[in-house]
Amino acid sequence: MADVLAPLGYAPAEDAEGADMVILNTCHIREKAAEKVYSELGRIRGAKERKARAGGRMIVAVAGCVAQAEGAELMRRAPVADMVVGPQSYHRLPEMVARITRGAGHVLNTDFPVEDKFDHLPEAVSVSGPTAFLTIQEGCDKFCTFCVVPYTRGAEYSRPALAVIDEARRLVSGGAREITLLGQNVNAYHGEAPDGGVWGLGRLCRELAQLPGLERVRYTTSHPRDMDDELIAAHAEVPELMPYLHLPVQSGSDRVLVAMNRRHTRRDYLGLVERIRAARPDLALSSDFIVGFPGESDRDFEDTMDLVREVGYAQSFSFKYSPRPGTPGATMAGQVPNDVKAARLAALQDLLNAQARAFQCSMVGRRLPVLFEKPGRHPGQLAGRSPYLQPVHVEAPTALIGRIAEIEVTGAEANSLAGRIAEQSLEAV
Ligand code: SAH
Ligand code: SF4
Repeated sequence: MADVLAPLGYAPAEDAEGADMVILNTCHIREKAAEKVYSELGRIRGAKERKARAGGRMIVAVAGCVAQAEGAELMRRAPVADMVVGPQSYHRLPEMVARITRGAGHVLNTDFPVEDKFDHLPEAVSVSGPTAFLTIQEGCDKFCTFCVVPYTRGAEYSRPALAVIDEARRLVSGGAREITLLGQNVNAYHGEAPDGGVWGLGRLCRELAQLPGLERVRYTTSHPRDMDDELIAAHAEVPELMPYLHLPVQSGSDRVLVAMNRRHTRRDYLGLVERIRAARPDLALSSDFIVGFPGESDRDFEDTMDLVREVGYAQSFSFKYSPRPGTPGATMAGQVPNDVKAARLAALQDLLNAQARAFQCSMVGRRLPVLFEKPGRHPGQLAGRSPYLQPVHVEAPTALIGRIAEIEVTGAEANSLAGRIAEQSLEAV
């Protein structure tokens, strides 16, 4: 959005106070995330009024999936918003801003346009460091019964492989050493290939890894059903593909998995984990979990705890089930009371946190390649990331920013590692 608005003279501001335009980029995945938008808009109203009193004008826009899902309702509930724009229409922001400055009271755009948004977004991608994100896929056709994504982001769409490779090349020439490929369901990727065929994610990763200067490739978020053999083989054969995979399972109970329409069983998932680990033995896993999906019994929940013990996760995200209007789950029988959800979430998070701590501690004494991204918290320090996405802080010369160096891990916190640069890496600077 910043890139799209730059030609109109907009540049990122430090603070909403006094800004000419404020964009709230919103998430609709759980009710809690969506509700935050309204309280935030209340705060922005104050800033907008102060700006008006000083003779200025602030345009307030709501973007993202709350905008997409609530549309006109959002404008009714929060008239402070001048503009409501869904994720498929960001390329139309300049024309929307123009309409508002010409005097249109409010502007709403939540269409699923026929033209390809990506063809209309500006090429000049602002790279702000050695790591970059690249959207290769959007939308989802899976219709898990708890999830709003198929409704807010629409049908699955993969960008053509050449467009992705071109953008990756630009990012690398702008300084990116690591690219994370993004998609709501990224491993469902099936982009049009240069030879007229179709490439899956495995092939795309292989091709990207060939780009000179690109040293690390990641992707997120993947669905267990779409981990095909080609992608698993890429994990074995492409060293640039980082050994860290977010593979959400949501539940360990077959009954719940069916009710969620996840289209895989507990056994499928465990078998898949085994095959991925056989391909890349040092690979670490993370996952998302939902507790308290309608109909989830104590026994079902124990199956989830059991699966977690069996797999062993390096990192995880876990949530209480949040009924989303318009999704099948919201009206299913057997909604679970909030106190039961809370107790299950606490038990699950205890287990997941213990696993995450154990994973962090297992790093101490190891040597890890770290991509240094920026100055660290303290003078003389740099901050970077391990292959497992762990933030790492070490004393190192600034010349290492944008480069990968080996470190010896000397300490582990809950969310970061400490270490020192290995001798050989310093000599290479
Ligand atoms: N495409 C990914 C998930 C995208 S949504 C996948 O298929 O796994 C991100 C996470 O939010 C989900 O993995 C899920 O754990 C959580 N989530 C989605 N809808 C939710 C809901 N209604 N209540 C609670 N958590 C939800
Ligand atoms: Fe939502 Fe992921 Fe299921 Fe798609 S696959 S419906 S994004 S949870």
